[in-house]
Amino acid sequence: MGQRLRLKSAEHRGETVAREVGKGVLPIDPFAIAADRGILVQPKADTDSGVSGMLLRHGDSFGIMYATHIPSEGFQRFSVGHELGHFFLDGHIDHILPDDGVHASHAGFTSVDPYELEADHFSAGLLMPSKLFLRELDKCGQGLKAVESMARMCRTSLTATAIRYAELTDDAVAVVMSTNNTISYCFISDTMKSLPEISWPRKGSLLPPSTATARFNEEPRRVAAADRSEAEVDVSDWFGGDSSAEAMEEIVGLGQYGKTLTVLTCPTLVDETYQEEDENEDAYLEESWTPRFRR
Ligand SMILES: [Zn+2]
Repeated sequence: MGQRLRLKSAEHRGETVAREVGKGVLPIDPFAIAADRGILVQPKADTDSGVSGMLLRHGDSFGIMYATHIPSEGFQRFSVGHELGHFFLDGHIDHILPDDGVHASHAGFTSVDPYELEADHFSAGLLMPSKLFLRELDKCGQGLKAVESMARMCRTSLTATAIRYAELTDDAVAVVMSTNNTISYCFISDTMKSLPEISWPRKGSLLPPSTATARFNEEPRRVAAADRSEAEVDVSDWFGGDSSAEAMEEIVGLGQYGKTLTVLTCPTLVDETYQEEDENEDAYLEESWTPRFRR
């Protein structure tokens, strides 16, 4: 199975567990799902930096510890969902915890380890099942406002919600996470990907200097203070190329996390290719930095 398919399948498994073990209504409660399986869940204050949580094994008994250095309910619930992914996904326990011991996780789409990524996708599917998510998203409008409404409803972080939004929406949307003048990652909706002749920024590349996000990040206190900004732009300001389309750039600082979330929405771009969702595409969503032309 190719990586993209494995990640999709992990996401589906999360959705199934949300329906069958969770109650199938938002917000899905990962703590209740763990309790249902007899898994003890506890906070852990003194984790190494970058560790989001841990799965512990003793014989056939399992426990979850989740990091609390980021005081965000959404981050902590996502971390617990990630550990549940290792518990529920086929082959994970055999790989990461074949014997008694502890597995330390790096949740949040930052790891390149396929098991970590699968657990992240499981967690996204668990906490934001596509059907429930899309039904509610319909009532939430577009852009950052929609992301914030959905984050409240799912009790998920703005970041995880924005990524799920870009993945599921029919709208032309790009979600960019940045630190200082650098792009940490960028997720793009299928409709946005259909724009011809534009190049998506790569992980670690510089923010386009003329954008409102670049100016916003020049003032770190605004990021720390969770300040906001917005600007009317053209998609070519961000992605180059000859395609011109008006877009809204909405920016919010993520506080002590030190990152900035930008949501680009392009309301004039109409989706024509969305139905052709190609199941056998072998590229992982986040690796779609280079545009995939669908014609
Ligand atoms: Zn893990």
